[in-house]
Amino acid sequence: MAGETIHGHRFFIGFGGKGANQCVQAARMGAKTAMVCKVGRDVFGNYYIQNFKNNGISTGNSQTVLHWENAIVIVAGANMLLGQEELQRALTAIVNAKVLVCQMARENHVKTIFNPAPAIADLCSDFYKASDVFCCNESEAELLTGLSVTSVEDASQVGLELLNKGCGSVIVTLGPQGCVVCQSTNMAPKHIPTTAVTAADATGAGDSFIGALAFYMAHYPTMPLEEMARRANLVAAMSVQTVGTQTSFPFQKDLPTELF
Ligand code: AMP
Repeated sequence: MAGETIHGHRFFIGFGGKGANQCVQAARMGAKTAMVCKVGRDVFGNYYIQNFKNNGISTGNSQTVLHWENAIVIVAGANMLLGQEELQRALTAIVNAKVLVCQMARENHVKTIFNPAPAIADLCSDFYKASDVFCCNESEAELLTGLSVTSVEDASQVGLELLNKGCGSVIVTLGPQGCVVCQSTNMAPKHIPTTAVTAADATGAGDSFIGALAFYMAHYPTMPLEEMARRANLVAAMSVQTVGTQTSFPFQKDLPTELF
């Protein structure tokens, strides 16, 4: 409750932000990655950028901005200042990329993965049309379509609904049930089950999934999307078995060689 003082038992600073998480997972699998973002010009911003560097992520197109207070909230706030001008500056990196992952550009043949998080009910129709792969979880799918999503059948239905809005493909993730893949080239939704594991901490599972998906799209562009989703399921399953978000994301060396 506001104003209430509570006792804490554990304290740690973790790095987050969905885009950052997704980028870290792709980098840990071996993808060459660059992050375009803005962070506060303060000690947290510096740590944040350093964390990208520690994960081998290029930060040449990331900027620090003054006057953002407080850690986590700021990062989102600072990113609100990311506009046309900054994206223009990052254009070379973007057009030369194999995959662009956005949270909230399909020119130059760069494949786009769009993750509608945080989801809003009246998402502009351009976002669907510009997505090669539109990837969301059950609650995001519910918010976007107004349909409740609790089963594979529900996910298949919302997947088709989202596909009809103009996406190239749609993936709806379903926690321990894996995901459902819908493609405009084949309108039959496909359930990609996974081996359910006991989750120690499912936070960030979706980001691990998207980061892995981006890796596969960049490294194995001809691999069927269903196979990429099957492998991304297994990477994300690994991430839920340890506490933390980025701290639980596996590196290539932690994963079975069959995934590469
Ligand atoms: P979610 O955001 O909860 O839909 O989870 C994203 C992805 O993480 C799912 O599509 C699964 O691949 C994986 N995942 C999440 N929870 C589990 C679990 N308990 N067991 C296995 N995989 C999981």
